[in-house]
Amino acid sequence: MERALIKINGIVQGVGFRPFIHRLVREYGLNGTIRNTSSGVELELDGEESILKRLVAEIPQRAPGLAVIEDIETQYGLACAGFTAFEIANSKQEAIRNTLISPDICICDDCLRELKTPGDRRYHYPFINCTNCGPRFTIIKDVPYDRVKTSMSCFPMCPDCDAEYHDIENRRYHAQPDACPVCGPAAVFLDAEGNILAEGEESISRAKEVLKEGKILAVKGLGGVHLACRIDNRIFAETLRRRKERDEKPFAVMCRDISCVREYCEVRPEEERILTGNRRPIVLLRKKGEREAELRHLSENRYLGVLLPFSPLDYLLFGEEFDALVMTSANLSDMPILHRNEEAVEKLHGIADGFLLHNREIQTRCDDSLCMVIDGSEYFFRRSRGYVPQPVRISKWEDLPSVLACGAEQKASFCLTKGGYAFPCQHIGDLKNFETYEHYQEQIRHFQRLFDIVPQAIACDLHPDYLSSEYAREMSDHLKIPLFPVQHHHAHFASCMADNRLEGDVIGLIWDGTGLGTDGTIWGGECLTGGYEHVYRVGSIKPVPLIGGDRAVKELDRVAFALLRESGADVSGKENAQLYEAMLAAGLNCPLSSGMGRLFDGIAAILNIKNLASYEGQGAVLLEAAAEEKETGLLPFELVKEKDLLLFDWRKMVEALVEEQKKKTPIGCLAARFMNTLIQMAVMQCEAAREKTGLSRVVLSGGTFQNRYLLERLPEHLREVGFSVYHHRRVSCNDEGLSLGQAVIALYRLGKGKNVSGCST
Ligand SMILES: [Zn+2]
Ligand SMILES: [Zn+2]
Repeated sequence: MERALIKINGIVQGVGFRPFIHRLVREYGLNGTIRNTSSGVELELDGEESILKRLVAEIPQRAPGLAVIEDIETQYGLACAGFTAFEIANSKQEAIRNTLISPDICICDDCLRELKTPGDRRYHYPFINCTNCGPRFTIIKDVPYDRVKTSMSCFPMCPDCDAEYHDIENRRYHAQPDACPVCGPAAVFLDAEGNILAEGEESISRAKEVLKEGKILAVKGLGGVHLACRIDNRIFAETLRRRKERDEKPFAVMCRDISCVREYCEVRPEEERILTGNRRPIVLLRKKGEREAELRHLSENRYLGVLLPFSPLDYLLFGEEFDALVMTSANLSDMPILHRNEEAVEKLHGIADGFLLHNREIQTRCDDSLCMVIDGSEYFFRRSRGYVPQPVRISKWEDLPSVLACGAEQKASFCLTKGGYAFPCQHIGDLKNFETYEHYQEQIRHFQRLFDIVPQAIACDLHPDYLSSEYAREMSDHLKIPLFPVQHHHAHFASCMADNRLEGDVIGLIWDGTGLGTDGTIWGGECLTGGYEHVYRVGSIKPVPLIGGDRAVKELDRVAFALLRESGADVSGKENAQLYEAMLAAGLNCPLSSGMGRLFDGIAAILNIKNLASYEGQGAVLLEAAAEEKETGLLPFELVKEKDLLLFDWRKMVEALVEEQKKKTPIGCLAARFMNTLIQMAVMQCEAAREKTGLSRVVLSGGTFQNRYLLERLPEHLREVGFSVYHHRRVSCNDEGLSLGQAVIALYRLGKGKNVSGCST
């Protein structure tokens, strides 16, 4: 007999891991102890080495579904400790915290069954959970993950729950957030004025009444408060839109079950897998053709964001009564999602007709995740609830320094690294909003504490005026650590490389709306070559003057005017023609932009698809929605060499569009031809880059690649001519994913050329 010390690192806390080990050890008839440490769990067992090794080999194979085992360190042949039983020891606070915390996970099948079983002591109890499901990230205040360090600390367990907690045969053995109606949190219903009208089970029936009457209900979920209403009468959603001042941005819809989803949308098998999986993001699904008209007020494009219920409260709210409800984050004009009861009642006064709240505190706000499904997995627009704070493995090296990357501004994000992991944050929002900026700073501190990260360098965008850059400068001064400003499109480029764990040099097509270039102009239609250390700009698009600067981002007609004028079209009859002419002639507040997003905006306005945008990227979204998908035609264009840059000259294309419009060619065909032209142009730019450098791997990044039309066609065209193509898989292609790229570039600069990802090329 001897003793073995087994350290298991990864997401192994709060996922039923210790009970699993306990049962496994008992099968082998061994004695010892297990404890949570800040790096995972630590197991000590007495036994024969061969038997101990067999047990260790079984751990990864039989671990609970939510566990993510990163590695297992073992030491055999230690002196026998003489254990007489198997014990779960108290948590040990280690100096180095390396714990991976589980995201919030949707209710499991076992809990759902109990929820629906009359006579079960948790029948209809909205806070039912077990070791396999329930809230985690949103209730954890600190590590190690124990009840006292969560929002559940104020709910001492009743004798029944306590017995379950200590019973190894029970599914709730050591389930930290476990509770029942006797000892746990309770729901409460308030009217529009904030008067409490019902508590407990009755509050849910009162909430249902609100929905039945076609009114708007505020519901406190896992990561924040949502606003809900029925979708079967457009007036309900339109009222919500008006009260929330959410002009035209699509609403997400929560459906009772997958068969309800099928009533409204096409669902491919891989989409069903992600919709019904335990993370429950909002998935963008194609609306059924015959449902288009009735769903138009919810989403003005071809897709509808759909999610299934994930918390027990959601299931109870739906019951059998509703098929589909609008479910939108309760936040006002770019503020963070509301999460406190008093605040919800105050801020949603005049918006919500009733409130379904509860007394379990949301420690950390976390919005719903949003994705589409590409190649069988999530392609994120927003990586948040259900995924965060799960880290992204960026390197096999563990001895890397830690860095903080501060992201951009409008779709703000940060990312901290530790060892071979990056921890991207949840959805934050636009930092120009004061509360959002505060939330951003608070979450940086929270992540640093949770994962015990002390950054040794800070990365930020090259744009000095971004609030994230300002924050980064202050922190760098305060902590006396180096600051690395990173060019925006280089960061996108590196983000996609790190996302796919690429090393060496690649070609990148980085298309987005706006990012400051190294020459002081606005970039965004870039073809780059290089790697983490440097990139070279080899291709771009002919810059467009943005008449009135930022105003042109909303007033798409201004971009259209500039495109038309530069292409030699007659613009004299256009609105404000004289003013715009004068501004262009004088170069007055007409910054040049090579942003692909702006080109989309301008073309959308020329085609009369959208002239005034009410949300960011609307022109591009609607242009994509208008496109005739079977159209394969192209428009004329030129690629011109200017200095070392291969520029997409769009003037002939714009000219041709105007001609086609005169011929009454359908707008759908023209929208498609425009995007086909971009694809053709991109392939040519990549071919030129390959000729020059010999590189044949292409990464695609930037917000423009939220466009499914492009994403479903461009890679195919590139592969046809021999390129390998990589798109984002683990973080968003838009600015939310930017911080990952900044972080890896900072690591690279700190390491002065050390191979960061540890992958061969
Ligand atoms: Zn469960
Ligand atoms: Zn209880």
